[in-house]
This record gives sequence, C-alpha cells and structure tokens, in this order.
Amino acid sequence: MAHRVTLIPGDGIGPEVTAAARRVAEATGVSFDWDVVEAGEAAIRATGTPLPDAVLDSVRRNRLALKGPITTPIGGGFRSVNVALRQQLDLYASVRPSRSIAGEGTRFPETDLIVVREATEGLYSGVEHWVDREHTAAETVNVVTRKASDRICKFAFELARRDHRKKVTGVHKANIMKTTGALFQTAYREMAAKYPDVPSDERLIDNMCMQLVKKPEEYDVIVTTNLFGDILSDLCAGLAGGLGVAPGALYGEGLAVFEPVHGSAPKYAGQDRADPVAEILCVELLLRHVGETEAANRVFRAVWETIAEKKVVTYDLALPGYTSRPVPASSCSAMAKEIARKIPLVDPDAPLPRPGPSTGAVSDPALEA
Ligand code: NAD
Repeated sequence: MAHRVTLIPGDGIGPEVTAAARRVAEATGVSFDWDVVEAGEAAIRATGTPLPDAVLDSVRRNRLALKGPITTPIGGGFRSVNVALRQQLDLYASVRPSRSIAGEGTRFPETDLIVVREATEGLYSGVEHWVDREHTAAETVNVVTRKASDRICKFAFELARRDHRKKVTGVHKANIMKTTGALFQTAYREMAAKYPDVPSDERLIDNMCMQLVKKPEEYDVIVTTNLFGDILSDLCAGLAGGLGVAPGALYGEGLAVFEPVHGSAPKYAGQDRADPVAEILCVELLLRHVGETEAANRVFRAVWETIAEKKVVTYDLALPGYTSRPVPASSCSAMAKEIARKIPLVDPDAPLPRPGPSTGAVSDPALEA
C-alpha cells in the first residue's frame, strides 16, 4: 500500500529541495501518494493566509508530512508559520541528527549528535509585547511547563535507550533562570532517574556551546528547551558539515513532519543551486519512521557515496575547505539525480555508518493526565 504523505514545498529553495527529495524517495521503489499543499508565500498568494486550514487538515489526516523551509519575515509581518504549525499540531519533539557524512567538510569527521528540542513553548511561545508606546522596551514570555518538560525528556531517554546511544545530556540555564530553567532541570533530573540504564549528565547552555566546539565526541543525545535547541542544532549542523546536510523531524502524538534544519535561503531561490541533501535525509528519517528500513539505508548510503565520490555535489560541498580536493559544483537537481541513480546500486546490508534515529513519538498516558 502506498504511504500517503502531505508534501509542503515551502518558500525560497523549498520547492527545489523538496522536488529533489521526492525524486530520491520515488527511486527507492517504496510507493508514495503525495498530497501537495501550500503554506507560506504561495499560500498567501492563493488564499490570503500563510497557514491555511487545509494544510493542518492534510497533516492530521495523513499523519505524515515532508516539508520544505518556510520564510518568516523578521520584525513585522505574519507570525512564523513553522512555529504555528508545531503549536497547532502539538509537534512537541524536534529531533535533529547531525552526522558527519564521509568525514567531509568538518574538523570533526566522527560527529554523530542528536539534538532533541522542545518545540511548542519556551521563548517561542509567541507571548510578547511592547512595554511602551515608543517601543523602547519589550517583553517575550518564556513559557515552560512541567508537562512539556516531562514529555520531551522522556522522548530523549526513550530514543537513547531504543537506539543504544551512549548518553543523554540535559541543557538549561537554571543558575540564572530560577523558575523556567529550574523547572526544566528538575523534570530532566527526575526523568534521568527513571532510566538508570542510560548514562546522563547536564550542562549549562553557555558551557555546552564551548564543549561542543571543543570536544563534540563526548556528547550524543542533547535534550533542551526551544530556543537553546534551535541554536544548538545549527551549531551541531556546522560541526557535521553545514546546514546543507542537516535533516530534522518533528513528532507529536501519532504525527510526524520531516523538515531540514535550514531555512528558505532566499538568495539561492530558483537557481537550482541549493544542497538537496538535508531534505533528502528527511526522506531517510521518514522511511525509518514508517518501517521501510532497507529503503532508508539505501538513501543514506547513496548520499554517503555521492558525497564521498565528490563527482556530483552542490557548491557548498565543493568549496575549498569542505573538500580535500576542489571540485566543480553541480546543481541541486543533478545531485538529486545522482543520488537517485545510486539507490538501486548500493548494498543495503553493508554496515551503515551513523544511521538516523529510529524515532517516533512516545505515548505515555501518565503524561497526558
Ligand atoms: P537559512 O538556513 O535559510 O540560510 C543560512 C545560510 O545557509 C545561508 O547562507 C544560506 O544560503 C545557506 N543555506 C541554507 N540552506 C542551504 C542549502 N540547502 N544549500 C546550500 N546553502 C544553504 O537561514 P536564514 O537565512 O537565517 O533564514 C532564511 C529564512 O528561512 C528566514 O525567513 C527564516 O525565518 C526561515 N527559516 C525557516 C526554517 C523552517 O522552515 N524550518 C528554518 C530556519 C529558517
């Protein structure tokens, strides 16, 4: 039976990278039935609103989505569609694996980290206002609840146990943020005590940033609140080779939306230049989520071999500094075509370096009470 998947092309480079990902998904031989819906600028043009109900209805119906990045205007303009989508569908767990691929483009060729980020509250709660008419002061409310902290910490420990990860690190700023930070810290400590078989530790966010750029190999699964997780996942993407190769997943109860860490990169829109790998690795994560493990392994291996060969790679993977020898840059579509061509040729049973997490949402009636 075909997997029915909501496909949201998104803005900027979104339509190009989602077309590339779709091409690779279809090359696996797994059957997909795509339900294409528009959000962001295309939706504003068509319906006057950036997040039409049809998008939310489609994701709720199909329970599975592949999404391109969506532009958020800085300062004024509409509220972030990405944040609204996460809040309205209660996509509470943002899972962002950062894996160095073929040891290219990084001083840390063994990088293999997963940031698990609470995605519905924190400083992205959307509760903010100007304090005075002159706009000389402003406040943003940092909403941290025990329920959301418990479920994201549980998610991280379940993921670590299921995928035999070496450690979970809880990240917060409880020394300064004596309520919100301390609440998250307490939830994390109490959850860690329930998983004595999973090694755990904790770090303050500032120290975590320093530790990660100095010795990332000492960390594995990182669980934290919304803003810290957003920042750390870009940092980890940089350790693993850049935003062009960093996929992500959002999980709610019975729902999963796969989207890259990167944004809509407007300066490359329409140029067939963007790196398609992050969106293609979203397909790997989606395939793992629906149990199509062999196809997921093929996608990851085909990406790995394409990057290792360095014959058909986009500009970011061809830059001096990324690669040990300079190579001409290929287009987004050419790289996707090359990855798709390799899919049937790779050995899905060969040992797989750094496969993506086999994550799904954690159901726990006790947390819903
Ligand atoms: P960005 O990720 O779009 O770009 C950051 C840098 O990385 C730029 O130099 C860009 O050209 C480069 N880059 C990003 N993706 C790339 C790719 N696939 N291949 C090659 N280079 C790539 O971040 P930004 O410029 O801060 O944001 C642009 C827009 O995207 C903003 O409106 C922002 O709100 C939005 N955004 C959306 C999401 C999402 O939809 N989940 C995530 C982040 C940012």
